[in-house]
Amino acid sequence: MNPRTGTVVYRALSLGAGAQSTVLALLLSRSDRRLAELGYPMPDVAVFADTGWEPEYVYRHLNWLEAELQFPLIRVSDGDLRENLKQGRTVSGHRFVDVPLYTVNEDGRKGMLRRQCTNHYKIRPIYRRIRQLAGGIPRRPFPKDKYAEMWIGISQDEMLRMKPSRESWVEHRWPLVDIGMSRSDCIEWFSTEYPDRYLPRSACVICPYRSDEHWVELKQREPNSYEEAVRFDRWLRKSTETPVRKLLNGRPYLHSARKPLDSVIKQKETGSVTGEAFNNECEGLCGV
Ligand code: SF4
Repeated sequence: MNPRTGTVVYRALSLGAGAQSTVLALLLSRSDRRLAELGYPMPDVAVFADTGWEPEYVYRHLNWLEAELQFPLIRVSDGDLRENLKQGRTVSGHRFVDVPLYTVNEDGRKGMLRRQCTNHYKIRPIYRRIRQLAGGIPRRPFPKDKYAEMWIGISQDEMLRMKPSRESWVEHRWPLVDIGMSRSDCIEWFSTEYPDRYLPRSACVICPYRSDEHWVELKQREPNSYEEAVRFDRWLRKSTETPVRKLLNGRPYLHSARKPLDSVIKQKETGSVTGEAFNNECEGLCGV
């Protein structure tokens, strides 16, 4: 039950464009009875935050999904992750690497950079747009007797990723959890309803949270993007004079094995390594 008092003035679906949020959007668009009974009518909008560096198949999937939905799908962006990362800066221009690269220091100690890209490129632009659409005025408090709902496509098997909103004007809800759907339920539902259609996993081309299976999928589905990630991974260690390296102590890698991406994935294809999986890490706005 929703503990918040006041009137819901806006309902938005946070659309990561991965398996779960895609299926959730389609169920909502079909006015799924289970969701309707739990207080999930069709949302006012679905919002996708574009980092500018997703594989092309994610953008194609998004265009298809937009045409399928009975409610509007809007795209928001706070900047181009590719350009900002290469320049070693955040969306606000600060000199900082906000993508969770894996590192090895001179003395061999392993580390990992703190992930702030989800916040910078996903959470902030989505929140800002929803607040605006819900009638919020910039730099003024949101009316105390009103609030917006943001629905997030976390599935029942990933409940650890559910986090309440830190903003008083917005309430998070997790419709797939409420109707007991897991990620595999979502994939099964989609393959029954759209047997000839590919359901992508969404993530930036260079996302270090990709599992090995996800890297192999990128390599097979979109070799150009995979090659771009491989080149970027090499570039990270090519010189200590790049804007990124000047901000780091150790050698950076895209893969958790802290070895060149292409060599690890070639080994994976012959069946000898495993990496850390995306699904266990994100807060719910990347990868769902
Ligand atoms: S997909 Fe990965 S790299 Fe892109 S914003 Fe999310 S965590 Fe960062």
